[in-house]
Amino acid sequence: MPAERKPLISGNWKMNLNHFEATATLDKLRYLLAKDDYEVVDVSVHPPFTDIRTVQTFLESEKVPIAIGAQNCHWEDKGAYTGEVAPPMLAKLNVAYVIVGHSERREIFGETDVEVGRKVKAVFTHGMTPILCCGETLEEREGEAHHGKITGQVHAGIEVLTAEQVATMVIAYEPIWAIGTGRTASADDAQEVCGWIRAKVADMKGADAAAAVRIQYGGSVKAANAAELMGQPDIDGALVGGAALDPDEFAKIVQFRLA
Ligand code: PEP
Repeated sequence: MPAERKPLISGNWKMNLNHFEATATLDKLRYLLAKDDYEVVDVSVHPPFTDIRTVQTFLESEKVPIAIGAQNCHWEDKGAYTGEVAPPMLAKLNVAYVIVGHSERREIFGETDVEVGRKVKAVFTHGMTPILCCGETLEEREGEAHHGKITGQVHAGIEVLTAEQVATMVIAYEPIWAIGTGRTASADDAQEVCGWIRAKVADMKGADAAAAVRIQYGGSVKAANAAELMGQPDIDGALVGGAALDPDEFAKIVQFRLA
């Protein structure tokens, strides 16, 4: 992995932890992680929207260098979109990373590639970094359709971006069959797809963007498999769901080099 691609470990809390529980979780994490850890790995947490202000206050007042993340946003700046949250609202809370197009958004809430592309652009417009998710179902993998699916998702997510923007963003490869199932892609399979994504980024946006874009793997990452996955040349971090709710486990994933 080139030195400039610092791994990013992101904890996606999904619809878990109220703002009291969020503070307790981060308080534990604060003691488990040290300055040295943040020098070699970037860390973000992605709480529910209702926790973000509390998380911001805690991290900033305690000077914990964990980046604040969101799990989703709308693409418009404001307006009559009941129940939605606009990118500038997140930017005001010092949100650094926004997960866009998570498979649960796509599968449960019907988010389309076009909408995901608009969100990625809006996140950049407001000075934040998108984590663009892509990944295949089990049927698509078994039918050898995964490369086509992922290429389409990546294309829709980055087509309107400049090469310079793509170089700074994050793409998360998350095979849907591995999310929350305890079933992880083998390190070889994860590497193969992450390498494929990098090659597609090179085709679409050039070699410099491809060399710089960070590609995470997500899908039942835990302390026991983190080092092997992140030891792959095209895997630059992890998007972690279930294991991110346990500060001890999440800290060990961040410290994967010590395993
Ligand atoms: C996720 O939600 O992005 C995820 C990868 O979940 P889990 O780690 O629980 O599989």
